[in-house]
Amino acid sequence: MKSKKKIVIAVIAVVLVAALIGTGIYIYVMRYSRDKNDTEEFYRANIDTVGYENTIETAIPQTALYGIIQKHFTDELPEGKTEKKAIVIGYDGCRADILNIRQKENSAINAVLDEGGTINLTYCGGVNYPEVNTQDTSTAPGWCSILTGQWADIHGITGNDITKTMDTKTLMTSLTESKIIDSASFITKWAGHFSRKNATYLLEKEYCEENNLSVAFNKCEGNEGSFEAAKEEIGKADCSDFVFVIYEQTDSTGHNKGFSYNNPLYKEAFLEIDGYGFETIEAIKARETYESEDWLIIVTSDHGGFGKGHGKASIQERMTFAVMNKNF
Ligand SMILES: [Zn+2]
Repeated sequence: MKSKKKIVIAVIAVVLVAALIGTGIYIYVMRYSRDKNDTEEFYRANIDTVGYENTIETAIPQTALYGIIQKHFTDELPEGKTEKKAIVIGYDGCRADILNIRQKENSAINAVLDEGGTINLTYCGGVNYPEVNTQDTSTAPGWCSILTGQWADIHGITGNDITKTMDTKTLMTSLTESKIIDSASFITKWAGHFSRKNATYLLEKEYCEENNLSVAFNKCEGNEGSFEAAKEEIGKADCSDFVFVIYEQTDSTGHNKGFSYNNPLYKEAFLEIDGYGFETIEAIKARETYESEDWLIIVTSDHGGFGKGHGKASIQERMTFAVMNKNF
C-alpha cells in the first residue's frame, strides 16, 4: 500500500514536470515563430495598408515635429480664434505597422484623420532606415529628439539614463521662457524622464523651478494615471497651452510579451492607448472655449520594437509615425 502510494505520487510528479516542460517549449516555440514571421517583408506589407501619405524611404525625421509645433505657436491666429493650444499624445513604443488595426470608433488616429488630418511615417535613431542608427531607438532619445528638434549629436541623449544639459532646451521650456506660451505640462508614468537618478529632464525641471517657469512635470501612477492627469489638465479653464502626454501600454506590453505585430496582446495594448488618445481629444473638444481655440493635435511614437525590445537598427524599431490635424 505504501509503495503504491509512492508510485502514484511519482507518476503525478512526472506528469506535472512534463506538463511544465511542455508548456515552456510551447511558449518558446510560439514566441520564436512569432518573431521569425515578423519579417521586413511582412512589416512593409502591413505598412502599405495603414494609409500613410509617404513611404519608408521618404519618412520624415521625428525632429521635424519640433518645428511644426513651434510654427503653430508663432503663426498668426486664424480668423475667429483667440488662443493657440497644442497637444502631443505620445504612444510609447508603438510600431508604425500596428496602426492598420485601428478601430473605426474610439480611435484618436481616426478622430484626427476624419477631420482632414494627415498621417505620415517618421523615423527615430538619427538617420533613416537602412542606415545604422546613430542613437538608440529608445524612449529618452526619441522623445528628446521630438522635444528639442535635434538628434543626440546636439542634445546628447544617445540612450536612456543620461541627464540632458541645458544647452538644448525642450519646447515646453523654450516656448514658456520666451513667453510665446504661458504654460506647459509634461505628463508621463515613466520615472526615466524626470523622476529618478540620471533621468533625462532632471536639470530641465530644476531650471524651470529656479526660473519660475510655468512648466509642470507630472509623474503619474500607471497608464490610467497619465490619462486621468491629461483629462484633468485639459478640463481646466486655463489649461496649459502645450500639453505633452505619453501613454505607455504598447511599450510595457512589448517588453513583457513582445512587440510583435503577431502578438495579440500587443495589438490589444495599441487599441487601449488609441482609445485613451480618443478620450483625450474628446476632452479637448468638450472645453467650453474650444470654438475660439486653435488646437494643434499630434499623435506620435518615440520608437517601434522587435522581439521583446528596441534600441537597435531593425526596420520595426526604426519607423515611427505622426498623425496631425493640420497640414504643414
Ligand atoms: Zn519608449
